[in-house]
Amino acid sequence: MSEFDYGLFVIGAGSGGVRAARIAAAHGARVAVAEEHRVGGTCVIRGCVPKKLLVYGAHFAEDLDDAAMFGWDVPEKRFDWPVLRDNVLAEVSRLEGLYGQTLGNHHVEIIKERAAVAGPNQLRLAGGRAVTARKILIAVGARPALPNIDGIEHAITSNEVFHLDRMPKRVVIAGGGYIANEFAGIFHQFGAHVTLVNRSDTMLRGYDEQIVDRLVKISLAKGLDIRFNAGFDRIEKNEDGSLTCVMKGCDAIHADEVLFAIGRQPNTEGLGLAEAGVALGENGAVIVDDDYRTNVPSIFAVGDVTNRVQLTPVAIREGQAFADSQFGNKPTRVDYRCIPSAVFSHPPIASVGLTEGQARNRLGSAKTFTSDFRAMKNVLAGRNERSLYKLVVDEGTDEVVGLHMIGPDAPEILQAAAVAVKARLKKADFDATVALHPSMAEELVLMR
Ligand code: NDP
Repeated sequence: MSEFDYGLFVIGAGSGGVRAARIAAAHGARVAVAEEHRVGGTCVIRGCVPKKLLVYGAHFAEDLDDAAMFGWDVPEKRFDWPVLRDNVLAEVSRLEGLYGQTLGNHHVEIIKERAAVAGPNQLRLAGGRAVTARKILIAVGARPALPNIDGIEHAITSNEVFHLDRMPKRVVIAGGGYIANEFAGIFHQFGAHVTLVNRSDTMLRGYDEQIVDRLVKISLAKGLDIRFNAGFDRIEKNEDGSLTCVMKGCDAIHADEVLFAIGRQPNTEGLGLAEAGVALGENGAVIVDDDYRTNVPSIFAVGDVTNRVQLTPVAIREGQAFADSQFGNKPTRVDYRCIPSAVFSHPPIASVGLTEGQARNRLGSAKTFTSDFRAMKNVLAGRNERSLYKLVVDEGTDEVVGLHMIGPDAPEILQAAAVAVKARLKKADFDATVALHPSMAEELVLMR
């Protein structure tokens, strides 16, 4: 009989927590996972999955317009938001069920209440029960950050956006990152007038500047309004239910919804971590070492709560590495080099490796190759929207150190090409590969 109730107690059934729980159980540990909301976490319940389904839904607006040039007689299009919203929410519930089933199949106990840390091996459940565990994993993720301004209660975040009663006619979006640009595209395609408000003149910091410039240019050409170097003073609710954003740096903006997407902050408040002696960093993030261990040896953390790389596949890898190392006798660490990422804007951006600027800083010099082209489908449709692909090459070694793309299906194409960049293939290897014609991806092997 073990001295602890569980070998592993996971707080949070999101991407990282579910993977860690399942793998630790498969290695033979007695595992429980506590979840106060819904199994699946941000990605499944109010993030990547429902967002991607909305992106698909939004794309039909352009596809239906373009269909005419391909000979299709499409009657006047009409979008019904509640139909899409309810279908997406039903799919989310289906996936939530599958996640629960997977945990059940691995004999992981799901405790549907909030848990907090009460000591190095102790936990307290919201219902009052106290439990003990040999190891505790904090995988509680993060939540949208909100500024402290008057009227912020009238704004929504990515938590509420999937549940809107009706499609707004005018949307103001605060932020210039992933969520802001993705929802700018979604709302625009659904017919709303979108104003993006960015605090500086740089959007999507960390992405290649040339690629981001292309997105800004295309977004402006589509009719999105972008206010750079602007901030919010307050949000006022008008008698008719509409909102007025009183701004700093630009005129007031009138809207039906205001969406704040200015980053996410770790969910560590009220979790008992500070009381248990766990060191927290900036923003309340749990500080961990290369093995996800906090300064308290029995307490670990993975995923967004550590505020390192806030991406689902990274949290999953971290959960897997933690469980293999701690319960499977297979010491594993995640390799953070060359993590591919994408912004599902309209059109999407995808990227892996160093940007041109990063390569010049790190390597001293870098060669770039670009392909600036109009996708065949856009040409026939009369859509004046150009794609841009960019290879960043180490001049000394000929190694491709970065690949950056904007254009239709860029994330799908980049995932495959990321294997080549991760494997440190050279530009000569790209050149030696025969083009697959006609495709957009062939541009990757035709840049000279
Ligand atoms: P991001 O970190 O992507 O972007 C935050 C934006 O808000 C930046 O433009 C930032 O400006 C700005 N900002 C930060 N603080 C303030 C402030 N106080 N006032 C005004 N503006 C501010 O955050 P998101 O909320 O869009 O997304 C959160 C995270 O979720 C992402 O970092 C990403 O890791 C993940 N995510 C990933 C997706 C994907 O993989 N496709 C999709 C959605 C989210 P500045 O650059 O000046 O700091």
